[in-house]
Amino acid sequence: MGPVILTLNAGSSSLKFAAFALVKGAEPSQLASGQIEGIGATAQGSVKTAAGEKSDLTFDPSLRRVDHQVAMDAILGWLRQAGYDSSVAAVGHRVVHGGLHLVEPKLIDESVIATLKGLIPLAPLHEPHNIAGILAAMKAFPSTPQVACFDTAFHRSHPFVDDTFALPRSYYDEGVRRYGFHGLSYEFITRKLGKIAPKIARKDVVIAHLGNGASMCAVHDGRAVATTMGFTALDGLSMGTRCGQLDPGVVLYLMTEKKMNADEISDLLWKNSGLKGMSGISQDMRELETSDSPAARDAIAYFVSRIRRELAGLAGTVDGVEAVVFTAGIGENSWKVREAALNGMEWMGIHLDVEANRANAQIISAKHSPTTVFIIPTNEELMIAEHTVRTAGVTG
Ligand code: ADP
Repeated sequence: MGPVILTLNAGSSSLKFAAFALVKGAEPSQLASGQIEGIGATAQGSVKTAAGEKSDLTFDPSLRRVDHQVAMDAILGWLRQAGYDSSVAAVGHRVVHGGLHLVEPKLIDESVIATLKGLIPLAPLHEPHNIAGILAAMKAFPSTPQVACFDTAFHRSHPFVDDTFALPRSYYDEGVRRYGFHGLSYEFITRKLGKIAPKIARKDVVIAHLGNGASMCAVHDGRAVATTMGFTALDGLSMGTRCGQLDPGVVLYLMTEKKMNADEISDLLWKNSGLKGMSGISQDMRELETSDSPAARDAIAYFVSRIRRELAGLAGTVDGVEAVVFTAGIGENSWKVREAALNGMEWMGIHLDVEANRANAQIISAKHSPTTVFIIPTNEELMIAEHTVRTAGVTG
């Protein structure tokens, strides 16, 4: 068996992974992908091969609490069973925050880990888990190169005005900036668009990454100009459980009038707002779309309304839009959200092909539409695998 690349995406309660075979002269080919949910409690995990065979990952039943290391060991167990373990030539990690200095994918050593630890205050809900995933993988594969790929990296090309807040300059200088996130997804989409529609990809494009986390990004000639997420992954669109854009005065009100402390406010804004908080039902768009609750309808309507605002706003950061791309769970699958988001947008040159949209076609704008609208499934894992191959110098 040739070299295998393992990609890991470690969150607070989940560890997503994928294994790719390296084929000479071609892009890495996915062998399998899987995830472990419920880290911090009694976890469950499953894996699905490229051929569609599903199996469960096994954990020691006496364990009450599965941490990232135990989750990693379960992945290692599966790799062994599948006969891939001795072929793993490099491990690639999705890291949410690279700060000001970590931009290009980087081979992980002690100094990179120290830098990542220093970034924890900038991403307290993500970075510690990314680091836990890295440490677990280093233990499982002690002599295998590990590569960190940063979600903030794609956005480092923002011009100053789209990178700053209107605070005294000293805050910008110390790193209070619009870092932006979902960079690996945006990088994949711009590259894919370059293959599908090379002329369009050289112009101004707005990409809507609509998953549990959701953001949008304006891109010119494949380079990021502006995005809806800011200093943290809380800004911009409302999301599964996050509030999105919020008047900072609300935070002051919560502190001074409601006497909420930082942890309580953090829980409210990150975990109990967005689709979940507004609907009082679920963070899951599928569930809300089938619900007849007025609160579920309001939560979806707010989400859609933010997409429309941001689409128009991002168009103003570039010179209009040549194309719009929808991606991620909601963007790829919810024709209702896309239809509501683009309805009446002819003034922006967007003429929806209603049937194509309902069929989740690759192009969902009408033939005569000046702006082309695409659905392109994202593949952050492939992006990580490619960066890892290059950075670790693995050859097929
Ligand atoms: P994550 O950010 O966790 O990677 P995903 O990109 O998988 O999230 O997106 C998850 C979201 O996509 C959920 O809100 C889910 O309900 C929504 N989704 C997935 N399939 C559909 C569908 N067929 N219709 C509407 N929403 C969908």
